[in-house]
Amino acid sequence: MKKLILTLLSAATLLQLHADENPQPAPTKFWGDSNAYLQRQANVMFDLVDRQLDAVQPSAGADPTRLMTLANLDMLLHDTGNDNSPAALAFLNGRVEKTAARMNKPVQSGYELHKIYNAGFVARTPSASLAFDIVRGLCHDTPMIADTTIQKIADSCDAMFITHNHSDHGDPAVVEMFLQAGKPVIAVPEFMPDDNRLIHIRPAEGAHTDEPFVLPDGDSLRLMIFPGHQDDLMNNLYVITTPEGFTFANSGDQYQSGSEDMEWIPSITPLLPKVDIFMLNCWNTRIPAITAAFNPRYVVTAHENEMGHTIDHREAFWLTFQKFAPVSTPYVVMGWGECFVPEMTSSGK
Ligand SMILES: [Zn+2]
Ligand SMILES: [Zn+2]
Repeated sequence: MKKLILTLLSAATLLQLHADENPQPAPTKFWGDSNAYLQRQANVMFDLVDRQLDAVQPSAGADPTRLMTLANLDMLLHDTGNDNSPAALAFLNGRVEKTAARMNKPVQSGYELHKIYNAGFVARTPSASLAFDIVRGLCHDTPMIADTTIQKIADSCDAMFITHNHSDHGDPAVVEMFLQAGKPVIAVPEFMPDDNRLIHIRPAEGAHTDEPFVLPDGDSLRLMIFPGHQDDLMNNLYVITTPEGFTFANSGDQYQSGSEDMEWIPSITPLLPKVDIFMLNCWNTRIPAITAAFNPRYVVTAHENEMGHTIDHREAFWLTFQKFAPVSTPYVVMGWGECFVPEMTSSGK
């Protein structure tokens, strides 16, 4: 009997502890408290978007379910009341954790592309994991992705390529994670110019570089770089081929108010190996022409909802779908923390 009482008591204690860990559900009546209502609605919507992104994964074109899901995310991210809110940060960090977990599994064949945040991507093949422009993201100057979470991305990669010297593309804290792990970081000379641990490469104007690049594990890439610009800033256009023959190209923030670079970019087409994926800034003003120049199997859009921008330049996913509708190349619109796996033909291409 004594034993039974003790058991009941400890069960009651456990139940009490459990109740303390789980706060009471939020009220379902919000009369007189509009803010509480909006916060609760945002929680519900971020959760629904997260589940739908898991349920319907990235594919080429404008799947109506994905368009609706990403447009809902646009609405949440263009409401500045959600900037840096616990719900928004939990959503972003949760998405990145999910894609980081997927990176623990080796790629058996073909390739996969992970979008992390903004223009940050990881392209993975059986032999190489290549990171582009990985940042923690800044909203009102506060980093959004936790260091422990972004460290997992760095741990999974072999090297990082940084296109240009803007804080939404290069983050010294993330660079440090790569360097501390002995993973090379390739960048324009304008990014962290005094740190000679980085590999600064910039082709001369009117030229390009085309060299093997050997990863720490001995695998050799073909690394082509073309000297693009964002206004007056250097913006490296990377075209990287893995040992399996898969080629990933990245536009960074290619942009000029005039047509200077677009006078030579169309002429690079015959120099390029067949590009599998071209990562292109969604706000590029020459989308059909630059896509045609890289002539990829897929163009994957970058830079939607950069939270460091005001909402007029937090480019919406729905707007990307509209801009790419006339593009004849299959286009893929990815949310944060998503993975795109292309359909392969029997030849593995
Ligand atoms: Zn940018
Ligand atoms: Zn930029």
